[in-house]
Amino acid sequence: MTQPAPSSSKPAAASPKPTVWVRPRPLGWLRERSPHFIKVQSRRLRSKFLPLALGLVCLLTVLGLPWVQAHLPLRTGDSSQSAITPPLSQVVREKAGEGAIAAPSPASSPGHTEDRDEGRTPRPLPRHGHLAFAEASTANLMVVASYSQDVAQRFERLHTDAGLALLKMIDAARLEGVWIVPVSGFRDYERQTRLFRLKTQQYGSTEAAARAVAPPGHSEHHTGYAVDLSDGLARAMDVSLSFGKTAAFQWLMRRAAQFGFELSFPEHNAQGVNYEPWHWRYVGTPEARRLFAPAATVQPGVG
Ligand SMILES: [Zn+2]
Repeated sequence: MTQPAPSSSKPAAASPKPTVWVRPRPLGWLRERSPHFIKVQSRRLRSKFLPLALGLVCLLTVLGLPWVQAHLPLRTGDSSQSAITPPLSQVVREKAGEGAIAAPSPASSPGHTEDRDEGRTPRPLPRHGHLAFAEASTANLMVVASYSQDVAQRFERLHTDAGLALLKMIDAARLEGVWIVPVSGFRDYERQTRLFRLKTQQYGSTEAAARAVAPPGHSEHHTGYAVDLSDGLARAMDVSLSFGKTAAFQWLMRRAAQFGFELSFPEHNAQGVNYEPWHWRYVGTPEARRLFAPAATVQPGVG
C-alpha cells in the first residue's frame, strides 16, 4: 500500500502581502501651495529685498543728480526764479497793488525777458516816479504782525521805530472799534523782484508793471518804514482801491499823522505814482524823514 499522498487540501500558508512603499507627499507640499503660505513667503521676500531696493534707488539718485545737472541744458535765471517752490510763508495770493507776493514764475515765461534778454545789455527798469532805496538791515527790524489769507501765512516786519509806532496806532484804532491789519512790511530786493515779475507777466510789460508796483530797488518797503494796511473787517478789500472806502482807511486819514504815518501815494501825488490807499510810510523820526524827503521833489514819471 502506498502511503496516501499527503492531502493537498491543507491550505498553504498565506503569502504575506507585498509591501508597497508609497512615498508619502510631505505635508509641506500642500502647505506651500496654500494662499496663506504664499502670502507669508512674499512678505518675507519683500522684507528682505525692499530695503535693498530702496538703498539702490537712493544711491542712484545721489549719483545721478549731479550727472543730470551737468548734462542737461537747464536755463539759469537768477536765484529768485529757482524752480523750487518757495516756502508757503512766501506764497501770497495775488492781489492788485504791491502788497502781495506770489510764487516765482517759470523762468521761461515771456513777461520779464524784456529787460534781460541774453546777449544784450539789460535795460534799466522803468521807475515811474519811484525813488531808489537801500535795503534795511534785518538787525533793525521787528515783527509787527502775522498776515494770513488763503494760502498766505507770514510774519511781517518793520524798522523798530516804525514798528513800535504802528503797534500804538493799531491799539488806538482798536479802542475806537477799528481793526487795522498790517499786510506787508519790509521786503528785500528778492521779494520785490518776484513781485515785479508777477506784475510784468500780468500786465505784459515792465513799463505797465512799473505803474502798478515799484521795481526792485525802488520800493519804500525796502526801508522797513513802509507798510500796507488793511481793514480787518473788510478782508476782500485788502490791497485794493476799495480799501479807500473802509472804516480803517477813514480812521487812518484822521489819526495816522499823530503816530508818524502818512499816505505815500495819495491821489495826484507829486511822484506820479498810482493812488495806493493801503500804502503808508513812517516819517516820525529824522532818519525816516530824510529817507523820504526826495519824494517831495521827484519829477513825475522820471525813469
Ligand atoms: Zn506798499
